[in-house]
Amino acid sequence: MIAERLQKVRDRIDGAALQCGRDPSKITLVAVSKLKPASEILAAYEAGQRHFGESYVQEFQRKSRELGDLPWAVFHLIGRLQSNKTKAAATLFHAVHTVDSLKIARRLGDQTEHPLDVFFEVRLSPEETKSGVAVEDLAELVEFTRSREKLRPRGLMTMPPWSDDPEASRPYFRELRELAERHELPDLSMGMSHDLEVAVEEGSTFVRVGTAIFGPRKRRP
Ligand SMILES: *Cc1c(COP(=O)(O)O)cnc(C)c1O
Repeated sequence: MIAERLQKVRDRIDGAALQCGRDPSKITLVAVSKLKPASEILAAYEAGQRHFGESYVQEFQRKSRELGDLPWAVFHLIGRLQSNKTKAAATLFHAVHTVDSLKIARRLGDQTEHPLDVFFEVRLSPEETKSGVAVEDLAELVEFTRSREKLRPRGLMTMPPWSDDPEASRPYFRELRELAERHELPDLSMGMSHDLEVAVEEGSTFVRVGTAIFGPRKRRP
């Protein structure tokens, strides 16, 4: 079941990439397993999936004990990070997609024991969301992160306002790509179950897909 859904999503990504002349192997599928049990992560892992996205530090802390050691698995934090959870996040995750302040970047850089991949979450629709760095504050945050030995600035992340029309995401994805180019950041974390094709067309290198792989979720805890 999960194996089939993973394959369908991978086919969607590859199809969209080939359609616009991109190399599908340059696009990483992050399977978003938030609010799903460890057993489903294991099932996806057994089907060959290696990148996983989680939104809640504490929820993943509990689940990670059940997972044990999974060679080559890469865990991405894609949910909002509070400053009192940076130490736990740096321990549990290989990448954080939601760095949006100097305070969070400083704490992660001081507390992580391994090199940590950093994506900056950018707020492109101020009226819709609270999280994300404002475009005018991005340069300072990127420069600061580049100065920290253990942080590896990788790219930008954004969440467009929800719409059931995937095309509504396109202007946000395009703006994110232009910003990443301006700041010489190679990666783009964008696209979810409903708009991943549009994200791939606009240059995404990390698509974060939950529902299309694991099915609908319960409410957040
Ligand atoms: C939950 C979540 C996703 C996955 O969303 P789906 O619509 O289930 O694919 C992607 N990115 C972030 C930041 C999320 O919180």
